Amino acid sequence: MPDDWQSALVVAAHPDDIEYGLAAAVAAWTAAGKEVHYLLATRGEAGMAGLPPEEAGPLREEEERRSAAVVGVTEVEFLDHRDGVLVAGPELRRDLAGAIRRHRPEMVVTGYFGATWSPPGLSPAYVNSADHRALGQSVLDSVADAGNEWIFPELTEARWPGVQYIAVSEMLDPPHEVEVGDQVEKAVASLCEHRRYLELISDEPVDMQARQIVDMSTLTEDDRRRVGFRLYWG
Ligand SMILES: [Zn+2]
Repeated sequence: MPDDWQSALVVAAHPDDIEYGLAAAVAAWTAAGKEVHYLLATRGEAGMAGLPPEEAGPLREEEERRSAAVVGVTEVEFLDHRDGVLVAGPELRRDLAGAIRRHRPEMVVTGYFGATWSPPGLSPAYVNSADHRALGQSVLDSVADAGNEWIFPELTEARWPGVQYIAVSEMLDPPHEVEVGDQVEKAVASLCEHRRYLELISDEPVDMQARQIVDMSTLTEDDRRRVGFRLYWG
């Protein structure tokens, strides 16, 4: 994984997406003195069964801000898109491009957005969420939009052509890896901040759920914990 960058913007669809593995890499970066900001397209307000969106949204925003603080991230911005119905296209790209211009990162990081979570060929497979698929494609496209003053002339922020890399998290044979060995505990603690959300999706204690999820989402070959990425030029 290249190291010739100082600031990153991690972009996700929902509160908790970053904490499913990526936060271990974030912890490693902030520990090394890099500056990392978070950008959330939605507040995940449609993600809690039995809890109406007007209550779930603020609760999940608060949980995300606490999760971020655990791994050294204090700047967390929410775009006001509706949870569950993100659409890849000009509207989302414009909002993402505006945010990239505000945060001015050298690297933009986002989650895996392939069609399924399962290895190729496996059937039946687990479908990746519509929001993740829409967001990922739009993040790739919005980096170019952020650097071009003519695509969205209505944006008031100065163009930002300074993104060098786009990093998309990848579990299967990733071409780049970040060693996260001593950051795994911080990643678990970060996910634990989504307490109300995790309490709702399983009866298992929150810290056990968090540990299992982080174990599953960090590669462990040779006993070395890593988070994998595929990179694109900005
Ligand atoms: Zn999500």
